[in-house]
Amino acid sequence: MNFQALTIFPEMFQLFWDHGIVRRAIELGVITAAAVNIRDFASGRHLVTDDRPYGGGNGMVMKPEPLAAAIRWALTAAPGARTVYLSPQGRVFTQEIAAELSVQSGLILICGRYEGIDERICQRFVDDEISIGDYVLTGGELPAMVLMEAVVRLIPGALGGETSAQKDSFSDSLLEHGHYTRPANFEDDLVPDVLLSGNHAQIEKWRMEASLIRTFLKRKDLLMQRRFTPAEIKIIQQWRLDIDHILQFQSLSGAGALPGRQ
Ligand code: SAM
Repeated sequence: MNFQALTIFPEMFQLFWDHGIVRRAIELGVITAAAVNIRDFASGRHLVTDDRPYGGGNGMVMKPEPLAAAIRWALTAAPGARTVYLSPQGRVFTQEIAAELSVQSGLILICGRYEGIDERICQRFVDDEISIGDYVLTGGELPAMVLMEAVVRLIPGALGGETSAQKDSFSDSLLEHGHYTRPANFEDDLVPDVLLSGNHAQIEKWRMEASLIRTFLKRKDLLMQRRFTPAEIKIIQQWRLDIDHILQFQSLSGAGALPGRQ
């Protein structure tokens, strides 16, 4: 996939694609990445890329002409690429959107600054407006990096193990189980025995249950979207039996009155 970030601060991207998974994907030829300096498409002695807003008010707005020229240039380099404007007003980025974008041939990521970009650019050139969350940053560069990293992880060949991204949190409406590494005993805090057992079936079962418990405790909303497998239903039914048993014991032993049963 071809990534082009349109920005007035291209140098911000260099460190980003010199490290980690993005660097690896570039080296493997899985992606290409370039920062396109919008200022290179500005005219006049001062190469101005922003101007005052019509109608008055605070702040500056990114001018349409340099942006249009930069987008057209990027589209020539990657015909068929999807043009994404990073904006707090866009649809909120999720793992699902990352998966949707990961099958594109190219992404042109427009990074706004100041009060944002001229509205006519949004209307005429932008295919998709994406926000990384309900808060406002100063520029679209960090959001573009966030989006790019999440998308690159999903492109086949970009990660070492082909399956690792599929097991990540959110990939199937479940949070991932906890992870442990050496030492097995850290300040008397022990790694669960099953993970040391070498019994792969038991380890998988433990991970499935740990994942379900974690999602139940932290993000119940995700479980509502999930189609459980028969193995997961069995685990949840067992929880229900265990909870019923505890409640029954509670009322029989008189240890504590249950609400509604006094
Ligand atoms: N005036 C704009 C508004 O109220 O919607 C906010 C402009 S913001 C200060 C400047 C730029 O930062 C935006 O054009 C956008 O590219 C980027 N940006 C800020 N917050 C963002 C977010 N949550 N997600 C994606 N991009 C964001």
